[in-house]
Amino acid sequence: VLRLDNIRKSFGSTQVLRGISFDIKPHEVVALLGPSGSGKSTLMKCVNLLEQVDDGQIWLGDTDITDPRANQDKIRARVGVVFQQFNLFPHMTVLRNVTLAAIKVHHWNRDRAETRALELLDRIGMRAKANSYPDQLSGGQQQRVAIARALMTDPELLLLDEITSALDPMLVGEVLSMVAELKSQGTTILMATHEMSFAHDAADRIVLLRRGVIAENGTPQQVMDESEDPETREFFAHFR
Ligand code: ATP
Ligand code: MG
Repeated sequence: VLRLDNIRKSFGSTQVLRGISFDIKPHEVVALLGPSGSGKSTLMKCVNLLEQVDDGQIWLGDTDITDPRANQDKIRARVGVVFQQFNLFPHMTVLRNVTLAAIKVHHWNRDRAETRALELLDRIGMRAKANSYPDQLSGGQQQRVAIARALMTDPELLLLDEITSALDPMLVGEVLSMVAELKSQGTTILMATHEMSFAHDAADRIVLLRRGVIAENGTPQQVMDESEDPETREFFAHFR
């Protein structure tokens, strides 16, 4: 689904990504971990074309998305994204939020977009809230709506960047169980998270970033329980 080949990215003199290579297979859930500032969000923004890489290639299926001639809107329809916060427009209803990009960016007609949106909202038990505004929902409900919106175009890959870290602890569970549900339906996911026990239980693979390179890439058991690397052990020890 996704292949990163020697990605480099700097901001000014700060080298954030210094040669990142890994791939994600169909239906895989990969947790991207690493200390704050290690480049997790930057990496995801490169995959969503919100940032341009300085060097290296990113393949989405057979498309080299780092090729400047690539069609950005088409690529964005193939990658769903949810961020930590500010996902929904406060002055628009849930339904309008979910359908907006499909209509404005991907040129779907309103009927098609609304039918698809209501079906997704139904699936997450939020259909009754279609005409509510974001501030009438809990933070957890807002994030579930944001995930539904990211799924509108049936993306090949879902990017989730710390989607629970701004939430009240009480609301984290409902969002994580939605992610678990997507995984069971076969959705391919790359997620940055600080929820270590969720990453341990739900991810097929852990990619650990450190100082701009991949420090670990393996199963949760290999990386979180069995790594012999002192820095890796130290990193996970903080979360026990
Ligand atoms: P966190 O766990 O806190 O979310 P992260 O792993 O997502 O951290 P990034 O947000 O990718 O880290 O940031 C990596 C580094 O790049 C940081 O040093 C950050 O200050 C820097 N950085 C990110 N975006 C920009 C930007 N637009 N301009 C300049 N520097 C940036
Ligand atoms: Mg981040």
